Amino acid sequence: MKIIAIGRNYREHVKELKNTVPSEPVIFLMPETALIKKNQPFFYPDFSNNVHYEVELVLKINKLGKNIAEKFAHRYYDEIGIGIDFTARDLQNDLIQKGLPWEKSKGFDGAAPLGKFLNKDTFPNVQDINFTLEKNGELVQSGNSKDMIFSFDAIIAHVSKFFTLKIGDLIFTGTPAGVGPVKIGDELIAKIEEHELLKLHVR
Ligand code: ZN
Repeated sequence: MKIIAIGRNYREHVKELKNTVPSEPVIFLMPETALIKKNQPFFYPDFSNNVHYEVELVLKINKLGKNIAEKFAHRYYDEIGIGIDFTARDLQNDLIQKGLPWEKSKGFDGAAPLGKFLNKDTFPNVQDINFTLEKNGELVQSGNSKDMIFSFDAIIAHVSKFFTLKIGDLIFTGTPAGVGPVKIGDELIAKIEEHELLKLHVR
């Protein structure tokens, strides 16, 4: 399986990092070894002093597809979950400045904690899903899928032009504003609507 992630997909987050609003989805890949499952802890890496949390809605692909038309894209996922796209911001800024790929700062071991999934049918409208991240009991990020620059369906259509989607592939759909650093000892809780789907300790 592969993990596809979308960058710069919420205007307020684009602004906070002083990036420009993209005209098409910004795509990067993460290896399977980035995943943390079952609320296992995240071990703070020694190559960064500024790891940021980014809470994101995650789609699970349930059908093989390539060149998927946007109007059919909704047929290619049936579960929506939540994950964190941990980013070594210091390393990422350094790589961007040098014009180098940013995988090391985004796809390192443990960079992608993944929570439980909910069936798509749970949601009356997938373009109106609230999700949050709490750090040590304090609300730090709050987003709604209606604020995405590129919708789930637009993302699937665009991504599948370049990468064949396979059953079990995951798509991290971008983070809303409010990203910030974690430190050893922090506890993160991610929710979709009232459902607590991910709890993670930083070790
Ligand atoms: Zn992200």
